[in-house]
Amino acid sequence: MTEHKKLFIPGPTEVVPEVLAEMSRPMIGHRFPECSELIGSIIPMVQEMLYTKSMIFLSTSSGTGLMEAAVRNCVRESCVSFINGAFSKRFYQIAAANGKRAVPFEIDLGRGFNADIVDSALKEHPEADAITLVHNETATAAMSDIYGIAEMMEAKYPQVSLLIDMVSSMAGVKLEIDKLGIDVALASGQKAFALPPGIAVAAVSPRALEKARTVENRGYYFDFLAVEKSYPKNQTHITPTISHFYAMKKQMERIMAEGLENRWQRHIRMAEKVRSWAETYFRIFTEQGYRSNTLTCIENTRDVKIGELNKKLAERHMVIGNGYGELKDKTFRIAHMGELMMADIEEVLGAIDEILGL
Ligand code: PLP
Repeated sequence: MTEHKKLFIPGPTEVVPEVLAEMSRPMIGHRFPECSELIGSIIPMVQEMLYTKSMIFLSTSSGTGLMEAAVRNCVRESCVSFINGAFSKRFYQIAAANGKRAVPFEIDLGRGFNADIVDSALKEHPEADAITLVHNETATAAMSDIYGIAEMMEAKYPQVSLLIDMVSSMAGVKLEIDKLGIDVALASGQKAFALPPGIAVAAVSPRALEKARTVENRGYYFDFLAVEKSYPKNQTHITPTISHFYAMKKQMERIMAEGLENRWQRHIRMAEKVRSWAETYFRIFTEQGYRSNTLTCIENTRDVKIGELNKKLAERHMVIGNGYGELKDKTFRIAHMGELMMADIEEVLGAIDEILGL
């Protein structure tokens, strides 16, 4: 096996050994009381972290599964899909692929959404019963103004469901789900949660569940109402990824022990560090005011060969992210989320300085 490279890519992220070790516990039955106890210990910690009383769906899938679930359960007929990069485009494609009337509303790469933009799109589409939006577009590191958007939505479009992908921000950024009135807030385990890939998390509001009762063709695997039925028993309607539950329990305990405010502040400080470095030596790709706290997308103004840089970083057991899709080599991304600490950030930036002679 090759030696481990510390992951500064925006997912999967570093998983600490004690959490990894939890994955090797002996198996239990998913209908055993031990499993219900395990699930029952995780849910309140996730609710606390998300400032919510909503149902927490621990899904045996990656985040994309929950994007499909959100659309399938909570778009009755039509949604506006806000696109500012590859993952928000995926949300649109998923809505269309599931037979919903999805209207794409696209802005330039690197820009983030705010209340005015969302309002202007919805004014044109009064038929929409939901929106899909990616809070933290990982392809461009654009973090949209979810607080402004949510406030505007409550005031002007209270009947429209908010289906929000928080895949790369949840557990790294303070997101008060109930205050925001988010219907479905979804994320993948392998980002700021710092878990191995294969588990995804959604907070599904009571309002979203009510709507789901009126939506046809919700499917089976991701049917919120099937999830809801098993939920009071701390069970799942399918055989879940029990090993991830062990890992998640440990990781959520670690998150609680760090303290939520400490965790949000740590992410902000790491983001500020990377941004200040990027501004000194390169240029930040993402529009000011919308720069993510969990990763930074940097314009490759020095024409660095990112593949070569990563080869050199690999010798030091580190790896950063190249640009995504059409932004490959034009940009590169440094993640600062999950288990990465300021010392790790200083280490990777210092290594890049040395390699490039900055
Ligand atoms: N949405 C965003 C913002 C992402 O960054 C990703 C993955 O990187 C996804 C969705 C897809 O998540 P997954 O790969 O867990 O299905």
